[in-house]
Parts: sequence; structure tokens; C-alpha cells
Amino acid sequence: MRQIILTGDRPTGPLHLGHFVGSLQNRVRLQHEYETYVLIADLQALTDHADQPALIRRSVHEVALDNLAVGIDPAVATLVIQSRVPELAELTMYYLNLVTLARLQRNPTVKDEMRQKGFDADVPAGFLVYPVSQAADITAFGAHLVPVGEDQLPMIEQTVEIVRRFNRMYPGQAETVLVEPRALVPPIARLPGTDGQGKMGKSLGNAIFLSDSTDVVAEKVRAMYTDPRHLRVEDPGTVEGNPVFSYLDAFDPDTAAVEELKRRYRAGGLGDVVVKARLIELLEAFLTPIRARRRALAEDQAHVGRVLREGTERGRETAGRTLSKVRAAMGLDD
Ligand code: ATP
Ligand code: MG
Repeated sequence: MRQIILTGDRPTGPLHLGHFVGSLQNRVRLQHEYETYVLIADLQALTDHADQPALIRRSVHEVALDNLAVGIDPAVATLVIQSRVPELAELTMYYLNLVTLARLQRNPTVKDEMRQKGFDADVPAGFLVYPVSQAADITAFGAHLVPVGEDQLPMIEQTVEIVRRFNRMYPGQAETVLVEPRALVPPIARLPGTDGQGKMGKSLGNAIFLSDSTDVVAEKVRAMYTDPRHLRVEDPGTVEGNPVFSYLDAFDPDTAAVEELKRRYRAGGLGDVVVKARLIELLEAFLTPIRARRRALAEDQAHVGRVLREGTERGRETAGRTLSKVRAAMGLDD
């Protein structure tokens, strides 16, 4: 039997270059090798967007289009809408009893996100426990591998803890009930934002979206943060922490040329305008076919609707099988 991948995105907006580098690229590459489920995590999106259900609803479609446009093939991979799989909510309820509040409060990604969103004691309870719901997602599909960006590592760690606890507490009759997953993080595990801050994020106002037009991409790149001390062309510049070079590392297949640019930038005599012009050209070449496929798909709403309906149905069957095993192991099945 083939091993299983579960990965996904929160439908809080369209997907960006960070998604591609962190997760989409791996999921597209591995979809023929692994049985692949791509979860559109609308329940998770609601944990910090409860007041914007219309945005979440709309973004489910955007995220589906982005996945298909970068090359997810619905003939081999399964796109699933999280809220249409109630089995995930039931699993979450069982898992919530296997984690402590203190453990949830220690999750470094959740801590970062709470800081960004200005949550304190007023944090929605659903937001604080979303790593548990994510553990339900990963285990419901029996995933062995989870292709994600670096920010997701604490979630996989939390999932492994829940799996071990569950399997120890409720050993199954014949086989181990839950599969222990492993994260797959790419070499560039975190793409910085155009503002040079930590991570490019949909909700952070520092993203270049896969669906951005030529003009918007050029405008965003021209406004990108670089080395603030690199004022004149002849000044030596810093490459570390300079997002323009991070993007070149991620998107320029000619690594020797990138190294040469870095050398000239460090030495002085290479202006930001020239480096940015190269980046604009590269991103344009990368995004042009994605935009074209996205446009074609957007015109065939019926097809995308069918892909989501059929995928979600298949996903429900898989999650249902896991839930039956879980209930049996817990002695709740009669
Ligand atoms: P939000 O602001 O709503 O949380 P997001 O931009 O963080 O949106 P998610 O939907 O939370 O995106 O993340 C989906 C996947 O993309 C995850 O595997 C995550 O690790 C990866 N990812 C998101 N942003 C980046 C990034 N800047 N670099 C690398 N991977 C990323
Ligand atoms: Mg996120």
C-alpha cells in the first residue's frame, strides 16, 4: 500500500510564494508517489476569523484554484473541505482530553501568532486548540508524511505526542490505531515577507500572491525591503536577511548566477534596482503559466466544484474508517 500525505492550507485568502516554497512544491512533486490529501482547512481559518465567514467561504474556492493551478492533479490527489468532514470534529473532541492547557500554551507558533494578532487572555478557545484539530486532520487520513513550512513543525510535534498517548492509552486489537506522522520541510523552510520580516503570510500584508498580476508583482518587488544601509550603488551590501536574495535562492534555478550576484552585491557596485529587475523577470516566468491555468480553471466553476465535492466525499470515507478504529479502540463502538 502506498504511504499517505496530508497537507493543506487555511482559506483566509489566496496562496502566495511562501506556500509554494514551503509546501505546494513538495505536494505537487510527491502526489504520484504518495496517496495525497490536500485539506482546505476552513474550520481552522474560522478560529481567528469567526466574524468573516464570507471571506473563508470565498477563499475555499481561491485555495482550490491555486492548488490546481500549480499542478495538483485531481486524478491522483484528493482535495477535501475540512468543515464538510464532521468526523474530524469528533476526533478533535477525543484528542482534546489527551493534551493539557499548559502544553497548548507552550506551542511556539501559536505564541507567535497570538502576539501578531494581539490575542491575550481573550484568545478564542478554538484558536488555542487548533493544533489539536490539526492532529485530528493528520491522523484521520492516516498520514505518514506532512509537507509543510517550518512554522508548522510544532504542530507535527504535538500530533506525534497525541498519537503516542492515544496508542498507549487505547491499544487496538490487532494493529496500532493511529499512524505517527513525519514532517517534510524543504531546504528553504520559511520564505520571508516582502517587508523582510519573519515569514510571508496571507494575513500579514507582506505577500506576493500566485494570482497577482504582472504589474502588481513588479510593484511589490520594487517596494521590497533590502539592506537599509545599501544607499548608493557603490556601497557594499548585505545579503543575509535581504529578502530579495532569499527569493532569488528560492526561484532562480541558476544557482551559480545567484552566487555571483551575491558576491558583487557584497563587494559594492551592484544596485538594488538591477537585482530586483532580475527577480521580477524570474517571478514573471514562474507565474505566467500558473496564472494562465488559474484563469482557465476559474472559467470552469463546475469542474472545480466537482473536484471539491468528489474529493471531500472520498476524504470523508477515509476519515470515517479511522474514526471507526478510534471508537473501537476506545470501546465506544457498541
Ligand atoms: P495565515 O496568515 O492565514 O495563517 P499563512 O500565510 O500562514 O496564512 P497557512 O495556510 O497558514 O498560510 O499555511 C499553509 C502552508 O504553507 C503551511 O504548510 C505553512 O507552513 C506554509 N507556509 C505559509 N507561509 C509560508 C512561508 N512564508 N514560508 C514557507 N512556508 C509557508
Ligand atoms: Mg499560517
